Formats: sequence, structure tokens, C-alpha cells
Amino acid sequence: MPFTYNCPRCGTASRPYTFRAGADNHGAHHRRRRHDGDYPVGESIQRIARTNPLDRAMAWRPSRGDAVAAAVVGLLVLWSVWHPFTN
Ligand SMILES: [Zn+2]
Repeated sequence: MPFTYNCPRCGTASRPYTFRAGADNHGAHHRRRRHDGDYPVGESIQRIARTNPLDRAMAWRPSRGDAVAAAVVGLLVLWSVWHPFTN
């Protein structure tokens, strides 16, 4: 079960760490960089359910940038097929 560092003041949770020490380290860096070393009230290390990488892939939806990139790649493929026959 991975661990995350949660800062209620910033409303953020760290990425999951396999070991609690990783989340603790993340918290130490976060406190130093964002809160001048002070301890935000209510900060916590939370044990979370392991996420299945396949679930994340299934939840993925293309963004506008992805659609533009796919269109450009599609046009390049079409051009590379069409070009040798016309020249
Ligand atoms: Zn914070």
C-alpha cells in the first residue's frame, strides 16, 4: 500500500510512494520550500490503495493538444504515402 503526503493548507497530495519514508521526505521538502520549514496544521501521511496502471490508462481522454498531434501525424502519414506516387 503506497503512501502520500497531504498538505491541507495547499490542498495538495504528493504522488504515491512505496515506502512511508518517501512520503516523509516529500513532506520535509514541501515544508521547506512552501512553508519556510513550518509544519502546516493538519498535514498527514496517508496510506492509499494501490492504483492499477491499467485503470489510469483507461481513464485517459485525449486533450486538444493530443488531437492536434494526432491530426499532424495523420497528415504526415497521408503525405508520405501520397508523395512517392506523384513525384
Ligand atoms: Zn503546503
